[in-house]
Amino acid sequence: MMSHDPKTYRYFLLTVDPVHIGTGGTRLGRVDNPIVREPGTRLPKIPGTSLHGMIRAYAAYRYGKPQCAGQSKTHCAQPTCPICYTFGHARDKEGGRMGVVTIGDARILLFPVYSMIGPVWVTSPTALHDAGFRPNNDLAKLFEVDKNEEGKAKWPQSLSSHNYLNLGWLMVERDTENDRWDPEEVFNDKFPDPIRNRVVLVSDGLFSQIVNSNLEVRTSVAINPETGAAEEGALFTYEAIPRATVLWMDVVVSDYQGAFPNKERWQEICQNIEETLAGEIPDSETESEKALRQLGYISKRPSRGDDEPEAKFKERQDKYWEQVKEAHKACRHVLQTLKWGNPFDLILFGLEWAEHLGVGGMGTRGFGRIQRISHCEVKNRGVLEEYQ
Ligand SMILES: [Zn+2]
Repeated sequence: MMSHDPKTYRYFLLTVDPVHIGTGGTRLGRVDNPIVREPGTRLPKIPGTSLHGMIRAYAAYRYGKPQCAGQSKTHCAQPTCPICYTFGHARDKEGGRMGVVTIGDARILLFPVYSMIGPVWVTSPTALHDAGFRPNNDLAKLFEVDKNEEGKAKWPQSLSSHNYLNLGWLMVERDTENDRWDPEEVFNDKFPDPIRNRVVLVSDGLFSQIVNSNLEVRTSVAINPETGAAEEGALFTYEAIPRATVLWMDVVVSDYQGAFPNKERWQEICQNIEETLAGEIPDSETESEKALRQLGYISKRPSRGDDEPEAKFKERQDKYWEQVKEAHKACRHVLQTLKWGNPFDLILFGLEWAEHLGVGGMGTRGFGRIQRISHCEVKNRGVLEEYQ
């Protein structure tokens, strides 16, 4: 029997645009719209709730089920709905149901800055450790940052043989103690080439400082939603995580019931509807029509009103069957195009669209595209396994 123990998957993400998820707060220092930060380290992050909303929305659209996308009361709440099963639903009448996935915050692992030798990616011991890159004994010393050396950095000789390097506006000196920092060895093939061999290691304190002084700050114009024109004097600034930042997030799947809606049931519904449409129309709603209706694809089959003229009724009926045909097409499309198996697949479906539409697409909050680089299962004590 299949085990339904909770599993944790770690995803590595790359920002394709500057990404902004606002705090929704008011002006803070020099920017009007600051981004969300981790308390303590002050490092920017993308909140798991935003990622959950985005992934759910895109997965729902791909299933042709926009009504199951948002936080709304329109969720179909059906046990046959992969979206509601995976992400939960909040229908008052039925009392609601928790989803089977938990999506954590996306945290920064590698942060891009300009230097005299071109772009480099900065990271820190804690950032590496938290993301699951645990040094073996031999490497361990590298991660011990001597208090006296906090202002220094490590980078591979192959990147630059100079003893000074600028990270944005900041000039740092090479830390020559235990200087065997080989990012290739730590990351091997987990990240694309130009990134993984250009990683500079700095202390945690310096990391936060470099990240915070190299965020994008952009100026934009507020658009009046009613007129579509720029509002007078409505220039505002916003912060964003720059393009080419590498982040990681954990997705926990605790599918203890293992009752993910099965594809066969959808195939059966689809097949029955096809037969209904091809043959003589039955007098009353069929089981499959009912199933489609409960899934939110179609409305109730119309019945003739007491003194409704024949023509009017016919018109409503035609509209209904058009809707059924559309729903059938949508289901066929889903069955043919989406690999289907478990909640984990839905996360991937959602992330695939995030690469094109980003956070902020289809009514989700924030903006900027995000690409999945790789993912793996996290085993005991945060050890990364099975990269894909
Ligand atoms: Zn649903």
